[in-house]
Amino acid sequence: MIFLEPLISVLSRPVFAEPSHLPVTWLGESTDGERLAEFAGRLCYMSQKNPAKRETREYLENIKKQGHGSVLEHANYSLLLEGVSRSLTHELVRHRAGFAYSQLSQRYVDESTANFVMPPAIIGDEALEKAWTRQVEEAQKAYVGLVEQLMTRYAWVPDKVHRRKMAREAARGVLPNSTETKIVVTANARAWRTMLELRSSEGAEFEIRRCAVAILRILKDEAPAFFSDFEIYQAGDRAEAAKIAYHKV
Ligand SMILES: Cc1cc2nc3c(=O)[nH]c(=O)nc-3n(C[C@H](O)[C@H](O)[C@H](O)COP(=O)(O)OP(=O)(O)OC[C@H]3O[C@@H](n4cnc5c(N)ncnc54)[C@H](O)[C@@H]3O)c2cc1C
Repeated sequence: MIFLEPLISVLSRPVFAEPSHLPVTWLGESTDGERLAEFAGRLCYMSQKNPAKRETREYLENIKKQGHGSVLEHANYSLLLEGVSRSLTHELVRHRAGFAYSQLSQRYVDESTANFVMPPAIIGDEALEKAWTRQVEEAQKAYVGLVEQLMTRYAWVPDKVHRRKMAREAARGVLPNSTETKIVVTANARAWRTMLELRSSEGAEFEIRRCAVAILRILKDEAPAFFSDFEIYQAGDRAEAAKIAYHKV
């Protein structure tokens, strides 16, 4: 199977449990993640009575404007990314602060029927698509052949699981960067903002940029107040990009 776009599922979102002895005067629409951040912010000044009569999303707009990013760190969102390439995840896992990752292991999992992700720049050009598909198919054939030969070479290893691992970890060397992978990514809203700013920008690589824009749309829906200052637009290279209003250094 060849993926032409990522498949993104929300695995978890915050559940806010308001303590009965410190109730907040909530105003306006909000989600649990947003209320959690507002609660944390208000605790700093014990302003639960909401003297300025701010709606949650107004309050959080001000938090972003002032650069009080730590308040956003309380809200974590976990996403499952599928239909993304190993080259995308290689770039993604460089984002460390506030992130957690669990990714499919090519040492344990058999890749002889692996899927591939066509780079966006190739999609739509018949000749390029053909050339690319031929190469990934050849690579997969080479992988299958190598696993077989390595299993024979190490037939004397008594533990079959260990033997398979030895074969797969060596054979994966011929698989391309375009091999599909799956990864669970958890990050707090502040960390998501930093990563999305960098990877949805025009300077980012096309596949991760497309993924970042898709994540942005999902998270904007989950918690509009955390991501409302991102603007998605059509860039000069005819692909979508996004820019942020409140950049945090
Ligand atoms: C367009 C683009 C091109 C790139 N090209 C390359 C490339 O060619 N080669 C390459 O190697 N990388 C490249 N990168 C990756 C880049 O160098 C960063 O590793 C990546 O963007 C993650 O950024 P970060 O370290 O700020 O993120 P995070 O690790 O999430 O950190 C976020 C912030 O936390 C703070 N922080 C985190 N860790 C530390 C620490 N140990 N010490 C002090 N402060 C810390 C910093 O303020 C940092 O900005 C590229 C990134 C982009 C967006």
